[in-house]
Amino acid sequence: PPDVEQLGRSAWTLLHTMAASYPEKASAEQQKETRTFMQLFGKMYPCWVCADDFRAWMKDGNEPRVSSRDDFGQWMCEAHNAVNVKLGKKSFDCKKWEERWRTGWKD
Ligand code: FAD
Repeated sequence: PPDVEQLGRSAWTLLHTMAASYPEKASAEQQKETRTFMQLFGKMYPCWVCADDFRAWMKDGNEPRVSSRDDFGQWMCEAHNAVNVKLGKKSFDCKKWEERWRTGWKD
């Protein structure tokens, strides 16, 4: 079976990096494809309890927000925070998602 922690770190890296390279303003086609990607991700993510909970979270008023990079990045951060809370980890400050995943920490 996959190592759920290693898989998680890799998956979040992929997802946040996808948000970071998302267009500032997405076309209708891009929005549709991104929604489809997240739906399939929620079905195929190879940690089944993780995937079930993630799909339930999306269904429960948290449909992917995909109109822009800012929207998608914030939504992804909220998705990650929902898992952080579930696992008893610290919430991440979503104002800092771009600094963490796109522009790099300024320090
Ligand atoms: P991670 O949570 O993997 O985070 C990696 C890095 O991302 C952090 O070091 C931090 O710099 C940054 N980060 C943290 N929070 C945010 C945020 N909100 N926004 C942006 N960046 C952030 N594990 C389980 O045991 N049970 C589950 O049910 C489960 N469900 C998951 C569902 C999904 C969709 C995914 C992708 C992963 C899931 N995981 C689950 C894995 C879990 O989220 C972690 O990846 C894993 O526990 C390793 O945690 P970590 O502390 O190393 O850092």
